[in-house]
Amino acid sequence: MHPFDYVRETTAAEAVRAGAKPSAKFIAGGTNLVDLMKANVEHPAHVVDINHLSLAAIEDVEGGLRIGALARMADVAAHPLVQKRFPAVSQALLLSASPQLRNAASIGGNLMQRTRCPYFRELIWMPCNKRNPGSGCAAIGGDNRMQAILGTSEHCIAQHMSDFAVAVAALDGVLTLRGPGGERRVKAESFHLLPGKTPHLEHDLKYGELIVSLFLPDAAHAQRSSYLKVRDRTSYEFALASAAVGLHIDDGGVIRDSRIAFGGIATKPWRAHFAEAVLIGQKPSAKIFRDAAEAEMKGAKGYGMNDYKIELGKRTLVRALTDLAGGAA
Ligand code: SF4
Repeated sequence: MHPFDYVRETTAAEAVRAGAKPSAKFIAGGTNLVDLMKANVEHPAHVVDINHLSLAAIEDVEGGLRIGALARMADVAAHPLVQKRFPAVSQALLLSASPQLRNAASIGGNLMQRTRCPYFRELIWMPCNKRNPGSGCAAIGGDNRMQAILGTSEHCIAQHMSDFAVAVAALDGVLTLRGPGGERRVKAESFHLLPGKTPHLEHDLKYGELIVSLFLPDAAHAQRSSYLKVRDRTSYEFALASAAVGLHIDDGGVIRDSRIAFGGIATKPWRAHFAEAVLIGQKPSAKIFRDAAEAEMKGAKGYGMNDYKIELGKRTLVRALTDLAGGAA
């Protein structure tokens, strides 16, 4: 591990000032950053401890819930208002990591976690544009069983790892960011970036900016929402495919509004607008759910070992929607 200096700040203003230094990183639970520092993938010169900032509250505010970025994953998952009004968010958190990690990890850190592409963390370094821009991508043509089929580029196909980020993108979450220039708001759906030609740039966070909170807006489709995760084993495993879904079905049985995001198959939390549009005005059915999945997956591209994810992603969405509609399909 490279040497670094460490500072513990107690206010957001101090943290932002310290975080604006070149090669500074914020640390909260440290469940991802410390791993990457040990693997010599991350080597910040300054580590800014933000655990003593007052950013862990979960508050019932006008129009929704505001969740501080330092709220721990376990606390958010277990919060009765999250469970009642945003069940997909609670479920996504409970299906993430392990109880020990959920107790330590903050939701802000969860949104910032980096890929587990094996070449990104490989100690005998292989080409990886995300770790070493311009070096190439060993996963294309290599071991890409876990990697993405949506949002890829010829420079990177790395799967985005967070379950929580998928649920938040589906339910129209809005992040508040604070930096040297003040505060601004960003839709969670737009926060993570496609790899394009610059896979090392992963999110819309300017230098020195800190995630301070997440706002989740109340809605009928948020209250009737769920998260389905398909993986190799039933605990402590990343998704092969996942879907966060929300439906507003009126008294006549017609879908008035829908929210869908995919995880495990895309380079970022993948808001499925094409699939959502297919469902509006329809009655739940196996056919319409499959049509929605087909519409979103038109742009999917397999790379050999991960070709199976195209069909798996479709089936995951159909099952998630079927379960949420109460077996109406
Ligand atoms: Fe690196 Fe992305 Fe290629 Fe993985 S998929 S080797 S993270 S460039």
